[in-house]
Amino acid sequence: IEEKFDAIVIGAGMAGNAAAYTMASRGLNVLQLERGEYAGSKNVQGGILYADMLEKIIPDFREEAPLERHLIEQRFWMMTDRSHTGMHYRSDDFNEERPNRYTIIRSQFDRWFNKQVQAQGAIVISETTVTELVSDAYGKVIGVRTDRSGGTVFADVVVLAEGVNGLLGARAGLRPTPKPDHVALAVKEMHFLPRETLEARFNLHGDEGVVIEAAGTISKGMTGMGFVYTNKESISVGFGCLVSDFAENEETPYGMLENFKSHPSIAPLIEGSEVKEYAAHLIPEGGFKTIPELFGDGWVVVGDAAQLNNAIHREGSNLAMTSGRLAGEAIFQVKSRKDPMTKQNLALYKKLLDDSFVMKDLKKYKDMPALLHTQAHNFFLDYPTLVSKAMENFLRVDGTPKIEKEKASVRAFRQKRSLTGLVGDAWRLARAWR
Ligand code: FAD
Repeated sequence: IEEKFDAIVIGAGMAGNAAAYTMASRGLNVLQLERGEYAGSKNVQGGILYADMLEKIIPDFREEAPLERHLIEQRFWMMTDRSHTGMHYRSDDFNEERPNRYTIIRSQFDRWFNKQVQAQGAIVISETTVTELVSDAYGKVIGVRTDRSGGTVFADVVVLAEGVNGLLGARAGLRPTPKPDHVALAVKEMHFLPRETLEARFNLHGDEGVVIEAAGTISKGMTGMGFVYTNKESISVGFGCLVSDFAENEETPYGMLENFKSHPSIAPLIEGSEVKEYAAHLIPEGGFKTIPELFGDGWVVVGDAAQLNNAIHREGSNLAMTSGRLAGEAIFQVKSRKDPMTKQNLALYKKLLDDSFVMKDLKKYKDMPALLHTQAHNFFLDYPTLVSKAMENFLRVDGTPKIEKEKASVRAFRQKRSLTGLVGDAWRLARAWR
């Protein structure tokens, strides 16, 4: 390819597709490069799609996009090895004309999204890995080199949407490589069941769906959690922990997933299912404090590659789509003014991002990742065990006077954690949450 493009987008995941669509639909000459066989072939997600963020890019996406179920119920489970203490929210209000959240299967969804990008006029080339960024003598990024022969391509601006590993950005010195305590490794399986069985097990009708998110002793004191998401005829079951925790402990990701699947609260939900797909993927979880430089001369970085992931709310694809869209809008505005793609002009992307929920949410939780990591033993082992014991004690009717039961539960908390420890944990949590 000899041509020079307005923009090159590296990667066809949520962020790359959003950026490429936004620019191509505004008439920019866009080249998108994807190393996978097709968009989505390498992508893994639980996965929940947040409709609002896609609607801002493709308003009528519901007409054609491959969506699984719209979510009407969320279960948060605090688990011990034999119990779970749950908080459920289910509402018929989620059975609305334009549902807010859907489960999706990324390989199908990304492929569809990328077809829409192509329909807007972008050139998409798959099975092509970008091997390095090309810069001019002043350090401005002016294009990319690929693994195809003679595969150097030029553009006014390069959008790095290469996902969590972000090797290109790291290699070019634009950002540091993510540290093991800033990324989680998640493994996921797809369990297939007849539709009627699945709907009966989860009390669902039509395309209604349920999400279960679970944390507690199942992560064995490491910072991590498990999830169960209902698709039309399958259930996505997964488990993830910080990479540094896996490195320090003797546990393996698949060992943790097996343990989660065999839990008495989970096993009946997937019993008799056929497992057809396995996947493993990293999730950036360092939050606000690990966000690298987001723009420079001739480049911007979006999505997971920029660590834009809200681990506290398990949101990633919506931050990826929004950052991709805002980068595309900023580039379009700079181009419309016929201004060069300098660092100074591309700062507009950061401004748009700062004004959006993306940076506001990540900033709000800036201290949470470190707190959950340093206090993992308390939050993932001790408290779930104490809460479970207190609940069992409360619910078991055995002739013990209630006043004695209450005293026993308070005693158990005080024995495990001093009053100062309890107050300190509550204070630290409240401070990190505010
Ligand atoms: P990706 O989707 O990873 O896309 C990057 C793309 O770049 C890939 O297609 C890759 O092949 C390509 N690429 C990489 N390097 C190169 C190169 N050198 N040349 C060419 N192409 C390249 N988020 C949610 O919102 N909801 C969920 O329920 C949810 N669940 C998750 C469950 C799991 C198990 C995991 C792992 C993640 C989950 N996430 C979820 C997070 C979400 O998947 C990510 O935040 C999102 O995919 C990020 O999009 P992205 O476009 O930045 O990166």
